[in-house]
Amino acid sequence: MPTPTLYHTNSLEYEPKHRNVHHNNENCPDGKRIKKEHRVEGTGNKPLCDECKKL
Ligand SMILES: [Zn+2]
Repeated sequence: MPTPTLYHTNSLEYEPKHRNVHHNNENCPDGKRIKKEHRVEGTGNKPLCDECKKL
């Protein structure tokens, strides 16, 4: 299964600042910290993460 382009996480393992954003880039350092099993497809109605904005 291909990995989705837009993803986020709802896992409480992550700090709110990482939980309350979504990512649109596979190379995002914060996005990479999300484990596969914690990834959720889509934005989750969360704002784009700051690191992804720079990429
Ligand atoms: Zn990101």
